[in-house]
Amino acid sequence: MIPFKLSELLKNLEIKMQYDQDALISHITIDSRACIEGSLFIAINGENNDGHNYVKSAVENGAKIIIVEKNIELQDKNIVCIKVKNTIHVMAEIAKLVLRHFAGKIISLTGSCGKTTTKQMLASICAQQFNTQSTKGNFNNFIGVPLTVFDVEQQHDILIAELGANAKKEIQYLNSIVNPNVAILLNASAAHLDGFEDLESVIKTKGEIITSSDQDAIIVLNKDDPSFSQWLNSAGEKQVVTFSSVDSTADVFIKQANYLSDRSEFTVSVFDRDLICVLKAPGKHNVQNALAAISAASSVGVSDINIIKGIHLFENCKGRLQSIQIENVSIWDDTYNANPASIKSAVDVLELQNGLNILVLGDMAEMDSHIEQYSQELKKYISNKVDFLFTVGNQSKLISSDLESAKHFIKQQELVEYIIQLIKLNSASQINIMVKGSRSAKMENVVSQLTLCL
Ligand code: ATP
Ligand code: MG
Repeated sequence: MIPFKLSELLKNLEIKMQYDQDALISHITIDSRACIEGSLFIAINGENNDGHNYVKSAVENGAKIIIVEKNIELQDKNIVCIKVKNTIHVMAEIAKLVLRHFAGKIISLTGSCGKTTTKQMLASICAQQFNTQSTKGNFNNFIGVPLTVFDVEQQHDILIAELGANAKKEIQYLNSIVNPNVAILLNASAAHLDGFEDLESVIKTKGEIITSSDQDAIIVLNKDDPSFSQWLNSAGEKQVVTFSSVDSTADVFIKQANYLSDRSEFTVSVFDRDLICVLKAPGKHNVQNALAAISAASSVGVSDINIIKGIHLFENCKGRLQSIQIENVSIWDDTYNANPASIKSAVDVLELQNGLNILVLGDMAEMDSHIEQYSQELKKYISNKVDFLFTVGNQSKLISSDLESAKHFIKQQELVEYIIQLIKLNSASQINIMVKGSRSAKMENVVSQLTLCL
């Protein structure tokens, strides 16, 4: 991490206390097991665990500064113990302070679908030219974003931060932590609806990345998204870079594309320069993600050749459209999560395959009272596009009910056995199985059981 002085932190928090004037903070953690000599340990009172229970072990492991929100008795008087109202908020303040010492460029990104995928594409591109640091996994919330910042080193040239939201004002909060030079808004659709009233509030919340960015930040916007005009308006005088799969008036747009079963080959115009790219991830949605990544990369000065290289070297993330081929069967593991838009994009990828196409859906979580409406919409979308639809769980039944080519299962085991029989009966055909569901549906178990049985 980028070191800073304890005195800076105390000044920032407006706390007066006795301390070593020269003390430097060069390691911060919320996990007592990760503490090393001199660490700053922040106690977070989380859903499953209370960090305050681990202060003692943090000190034993070498922590010298502790930030808490509860009263903690410490034997060792050399430990600096700072009590605050809310340790999560203080984490954000510390992250801001750390970034004051960062000389590189910062890119933030949000959207309803494709944040992690786009971040990965962008990191792959930027790494061709710059020392690049990006969000690990899906660390995109109140805790994950500051932790991402703490991982930045002085020698990094670029930080790419994924920002996620479950409620209003969260993107504003997270984006102001990183204060980006470039902010990407990918799209907005019905995702995490349980924390939002409706789609309109998702659109507004995603738009917070525009309004909370500095006046001189570059805003990357998706011209194909229905909310584009609204977002463009809120950008005001800020510089906007647009991307589109279909609109040649965008700064970055597709001139020609072959959407193939396992990859896409496309020519993209980037500010009037033509780049020919191969992306080893299928689906128009992934090309859209690539356009966003290309727009941002170009805005921070990555050369055309490095953009082409970075796109070529991109590998899809775990649980996002990864394919496993076993003899005549292709299993597509898209089990990381599910919402209406990402289910549609999975169906589109299935449609690109040759053979018998089977969609396997687990429950779609976080839809709250909107589940009925979106299930009906999905039923319509899916009905003529796949050969079979198999659902499993409680809510997914809403999508398969009354659909001729569909069957619902209560348990994953029954579903797996049924598919295995179907495969045996069609041993001469190519069979493509797309498996998808929300994180809580744990549809990766279906993938591993199928893989074991084949
Ligand atoms: P989360 O909100 O969980 O962080 P995310 O926005 O980071 O999700 P990814 O993890 O990149 O999204 O992808 C999640 C799912 O959405 C995958 O199934 C992926 O195939 C699909 N997906 C990726 N990009 C898009 C897109 N642009 N439009 C629709 N679906 C997409
Ligand atoms: Mg993500």
